[in-house]
Amino acid sequence: MFYFRTVSVNPKMPERISRLQDLQYNLWFSWHEPALELYRQLNEVLWEDCYHNPVKFLLELHQEDLHEAAQDSNYLALYDQVIGDFDRYMNEEKWFHKYYNQHKDRSIAYFSAEFGLHESLPIYSGGLGVLAGDHTKAASDLGIPFIGVGLLYKQGYFTQRINREGWQEAFYPHYNFYQMPIVPAVHENGTEVQIPVDLPQGTVFLKVWEMKVGLAKIYLLDADVARNSKEDRALTAQLYGGDRDMRIKQEIILGIGGVKALRALGIIPYAWHINEGHASFLCIERIRELVQTGIPVATAKEVVKSNTLFTTHTPVPAGHDTFDEEKIDYYFGYLYGQLGMSRDQFMQLGWNKEHKAFNMTVLALNLSSYCNGVSRLHGEVSRKMFQIFFDQLPVEEVPITSVTNGVHAESWIAQEIKDLYREYLGNEWDKNISDQEQWHKVDNISDERIWNIHKKKKEDMIFFVRHRLEQKKLRNHESSESVAEVQNFLSPDSLTIGFARRFATYKRATLLFRNKERLAHLFNNPERPLQIIFSGKAHPADDAGKEFIQKIYQYANEEPFRGKIVFLEDYDINVARYLVQGVDVWLNTPRWPMEASGTSGMKVAMNGGLHWSVLDGWWPEGYNGYNGFAIGEIDNSHLSEQELDREDSYSLYALLEEVIIPSYYNREDHLPREWIKRVKDSIKTLSPVFNTGRMVQEYASQFYVNCIDRGLMFSEENFALAGRVRAFKQYLMENWHHVDFKNVNFNGTKDMNVGDELTLSATVRLGPINHNDVRVEIAYGYESEHSLHNIQTKPMNLVEAVGDGLYRYSGSLQHAQQGTFGYTVRIRPSSTYFANDFELPLVTWAGTF
Ligand SMILES: *Cc1c(COP(=O)(O)O)cnc(C)c1O
Repeated sequence: MFYFRTVSVNPKMPERISRLQDLQYNLWFSWHEPALELYRQLNEVLWEDCYHNPVKFLLELHQEDLHEAAQDSNYLALYDQVIGDFDRYMNEEKWFHKYYNQHKDRSIAYFSAEFGLHESLPIYSGGLGVLAGDHTKAASDLGIPFIGVGLLYKQGYFTQRINREGWQEAFYPHYNFYQMPIVPAVHENGTEVQIPVDLPQGTVFLKVWEMKVGLAKIYLLDADVARNSKEDRALTAQLYGGDRDMRIKQEIILGIGGVKALRALGIIPYAWHINEGHASFLCIERIRELVQTGIPVATAKEVVKSNTLFTTHTPVPAGHDTFDEEKIDYYFGYLYGQLGMSRDQFMQLGWNKEHKAFNMTVLALNLSSYCNGVSRLHGEVSRKMFQIFFDQLPVEEVPITSVTNGVHAESWIAQEIKDLYREYLGNEWDKNISDQEQWHKVDNISDERIWNIHKKKKEDMIFFVRHRLEQKKLRNHESSESVAEVQNFLSPDSLTIGFARRFATYKRATLLFRNKERLAHLFNNPERPLQIIFSGKAHPADDAGKEFIQKIYQYANEEPFRGKIVFLEDYDINVARYLVQGVDVWLNTPRWPMEASGTSGMKVAMNGGLHWSVLDGWWPEGYNGYNGFAIGEIDNSHLSEQELDREDSYSLYALLEEVIIPSYYNREDHLPREWIKRVKDSIKTLSPVFNTGRMVQEYASQFYVNCIDRGLMFSEENFALAGRVRAFKQYLMENWHHVDFKNVNFNGTKDMNVGDELTLSATVRLGPINHNDVRVEIAYGYESEHSLHNIQTKPMNLVEAVGDGLYRYSGSLQHAQQGTFGYTVRIRPSSTYFANDFELPLVTWAGTF
């Protein structure tokens, strides 16, 4: 091997169109069709060959093409329009400026192991990454001062090829970052930013790359720099590759390196968002920084917690990232001293007593003020899962909330459909995307119009699929007949089902084949034909997932499925865009309740397809009985896996035979009127809700703004408040054992009428705890299954101090509704500085009374 340096030589850009060079380095281009068109028109074949990557494209484009374009009045008109739009976008007043102007320059740091923004940047594996990408785009649209932090993977996730046996093979291309829409971050003096991070084998240096996403920025860390050892250079080679050591090292780089990178860049985050547990080590670095300036570690923890938000995405205990004690000692042992912690104190930060391991989710939970799941159902599941840390609390009061995911509409909706929305809903439809009212205007669109556009998108998809299949066959040196045959695959007139996502086994890609005879029967109906497009990658270490792919590959080659079932290799954002814009129905069959949210069905709905899904993730919130199709029941927790698979497959076939196929094929004047009615209902009811505009507004107003305020408050006067809150918590923890009920009296009976008042009085023992620091309250709710539900509380009033640490309280409750209620009284700590009622998970309940 010999050493060499590389240089990228750009074409000389004619002055008149020179801003193409700005545009290529801002991912804004990726969700503006006219901007993409600006590149495509220069050389369509090359544009496709460069996989829509404008940086690579301009490096390879002929100088003459640029000069020609600079003389072409049509081209220049488009250019001026796009540049005008871009400048307007970058400078106009946005939502956040209107409502939270005082915070407009206070950065919010968002850490994520993957970001899926565009096919030209393959640093994502699936839904989590695409969500992070869509979140970033929406944050920019809303004017939120948003800074993403992630890793730049030299080989991405992996490139998928399916061999002749139907077995997935993983390829690892080496990307040239200089041919991507990112630039090295530099210091003021122009030198590249490089960050040192300590690992047991020595210091690794990370180069920092900057990506612009509209007004937002994402900084990506890259270990592939010359001064690192060969092994260290591979630390950021692959997303989710390697063993547990690789995983923890990557997470150290992301969390600790990420904080250091922001510091080196002079960015001061006022709020910190941990997107899934992979990034939780950022808290450790922040604590270390504070402790190194002389702040006591317990106070430092309160400071970090005050402005941190954690979003969990994993509904099953096994899905959470954990490391054993030895590994933690090996990688963090040297840090315990710098953190001012004992080994035990450090372990405790992430300790999961059930699994006896250090858990990244627990670490994040312990060091965040706010925690949320990604759909209502997932919020519930998470509260159940983490109740072990709040063992005195009813599940519903476990302080984990939810913000349901969405998708970035501008990125996912076909241009033709966007034009339709602009025409019928108005020019500002996308700015007002969450306004339910405007979506009613979808009813004014003629059936024929929307159907023809859908048909056109379906044809585009089929053309794309055939082309991809043909390429694959050519690559495999298949016979010319076999290559030619592809042109007969799939028909634009057939009911087309799409199934594409990661091939994790819980997503049950093969569920539809449980009763192959019955399915074959449906495929054999020449009057009402069916076809299915599959796509998706299995994790390279997941052989069970690969077997699912193989099965589908085999079915695709059998009669009667040949040419009607296809498997598309290398699922990514580009493939996803074609599929969600072109399919009639989108099938989603996760094993309930393992899909935290899912988002691909949302993309389909906005494009005029129908979602057909298990009532898991976001779908129970979206499904209204008509705007798509629901598989199985809303709560399947009583079924075993086998039963669930059987029930769900029955439901699949019944829906297909009795509802989906008839609805699609019953025509009136050649149009499926009933189907189109469903499509319009789906667009109307789902688009205003399941978009990232709504989602990021919720993150901003429920969490980001509070985090900023709390962070500022907690750090004033050298972290005085953080110190007080810490002392307060410690005092309560040490003295809570004094808290008790001496007696509780009430004046009600078992049967009461609406409007009757129930009065309660209680004498409580607080010992040395000040009565201002607790809240004595009536807790009441519906009684069912020996528990209280929809719990509400009402404070009781202090009547008198009886002396000796005893206090008498009274309160009352008026029954406003009929039903069977349960009520009791309880005492909990209270402080205006808590982010939620149970920031300190202490509560004393009255016994029987
Ligand atoms: C939207 C999207 C996903 C998410 O799919 P789910 O079905 O929600 O799991 C995964 N991968 C890509 C490329 C996507 O665009």
